[in-house]
Amino acid sequence: MSSKMLKFVSTEKAMPVKRKAQKRVADFDEIYDDFDAVEAETQSSRCSQCGVPFCQVNCPLHNNIPDWLMLTAEGRMQEAYELSSQTNNFPEICGRICPQDRLCEGSCVIEKGFESVTIGAVEKHITETAFAEGWVKPAAPRVEQAESIGIIGGGPAGLAAAEMLRHRGYQVHIYDRYDRIGGLLMYGIPGFKLEKSIVERRGQLLIDGGVHFHLGVDIGGETSFADIRAKHDAILVATGVYKARDIAAPGSGLDGIVPALEFLTVSNRKSLGDDVAAFDSGMLNAEGKDVVVIGGGDTAMDCVRTAIRQKAKSVSCLYRRDRANMPGSQREVQNAEEEGVVFKWLSAPQAFLGDDKVRAVQAQRIHLGQPDATGRQVPEVIDGSAHELPADMVIKALGFDPEDLPTMFGQDGLEVTRWGTLKIDWRTMMTNLAGVFAAGDIVRGASLVVWGVRDGRDAAEAIDQWIMAAADAPRAAGAGR
Ligand code: FAD
Ligand code: SF4
Ligand code: SF4
Repeated sequence: MSSKMLKFVSTEKAMPVKRKAQKRVADFDEIYDDFDAVEAETQSSRCSQCGVPFCQVNCPLHNNIPDWLMLTAEGRMQEAYELSSQTNNFPEICGRICPQDRLCEGSCVIEKGFESVTIGAVEKHITETAFAEGWVKPAAPRVEQAESIGIIGGGPAGLAAAEMLRHRGYQVHIYDRYDRIGGLLMYGIPGFKLEKSIVERRGQLLIDGGVHFHLGVDIGGETSFADIRAKHDAILVATGVYKARDIAAPGSGLDGIVPALEFLTVSNRKSLGDDVAAFDSGMLNAEGKDVVVIGGGDTAMDCVRTAIRQKAKSVSCLYRRDRANMPGSQREVQNAEEEGVVFKWLSAPQAFLGDDKVRAVQAQRIHLGQPDATGRQVPEVIDGSAHELPADMVIKALGFDPEDLPTMFGQDGLEVTRWGTLKIDWRTMMTNLAGVFAAGDIVRGASLVVWGVRDGRDAAEAIDQWIMAAADAPRAAGAGR
């Protein structure tokens, strides 16, 4: 083993420098700096090169983490990049926004009593170095294939599949109803977690590699699914999940109560320099308002921190369970608290008060009761605990469900699960329609970017196999004659 490794005993874990809360709330830029070369080498050298690396096992992409940490510790950055890009299409993005505490770093078993290796920040550093050095190149297939693949959805799942299919020489066309590439990377996740130039850089690389983008095209709207299917040899559906869950409480239709994704999309568009009437009119702008965000997931965390940056008067987050039982990342809760967000744990909305416009949320306190069949404690309302929280803006961040794709696509026979996600055979990534594959959130339900990348890669592999098998079939039939 390299003498550069196993330094966890003498070297403490460090994260890249985080900008001070007071400064970072003044803009939408990322809050973490990049490691410099020395910091990346030092942090990588803490890895103990486990025989069974649980970090790798619990990374959805099974990234070869110990090896690229060793190469980084030895300053062999080009090799580290080559290795890291073999398993991940967007390592600089996952390095920034994976919930590492629940995935690779959360599984790092360095040694009892020592903190995990800082994996995500090193992964980001490797690819940022590669971009700076000009090592990151667009796809350049040796042979062009005649077959074309239509991908519906240009989020991480669709983009990862597109890159893999271009490497194999297929003609790849991505259709997206948005006007920019990236899906939720562009319009959902705020710039303070992932700056938009990072997403644009990847989009450009795909364009340079020969991927054709058809933006502003709504499949199932003005362009039918049947038309797209007829144009291509195979289709990948990677449309994500966009139907916002609602709250059935009195007053939930009042003005000033808005869905999370509309709020975040408008904010991202504003940062990108678009004219956005809903922001300028104040409708989707938190400035000067008492804002209450309802929910405890990543989306809720992004909303509270966006509202703070829009200069809200106050921002509180209402969540019916406690801190330990929230689905969002603990790291993001800490960031939000540092930035001035007040968390109201064990609280749930009972009603929204106001005449036309919301003026307050009537909330109730919650007690966590016995665990249900899933093992989670059931929230129970505490009688007589109703109280009011002033609110000029309420943001609902309660999660997302899939749209009704069979109806949208005019394909009654397209099979879905009881949750409305597309049903696929996980061995082939194919739906019940021949040549129609699916990947990402539309299959898993609201999930993570890294799982979208994983599915996109698996779908590309499956599409390639399916096309090759179809091409071989007539030959095989001929051979038997
Ligand atoms: P999407 O990214 O949703 O992309 C789907 C694309 O399909 C979109 O571009 C959409 O316009 C397009 N589309 C949909 N329907 C049609 C149609 N009919 N015709 C044409 N185009 C269509 N994950 C993390 O790992 N870390 C995070 O920090 C994180 N933060 C998040 C914050 C927010 C606010 C949200 C909402 C999600 C967050 N996620 C995070 C989850 C992550 O963004 C998703 O899991 C991931 O983007 C799913 O990728 P996808 O490609 O399946 O779908
Ligand atoms: Fe960790 Fe995500 Fe990178 Fe895997 S892709 S190593 S889970 S940061
Ligand atoms: Fe290194 Fe931690 Fe992975 Fe072990 S689990 S190989 S110490 S990063």
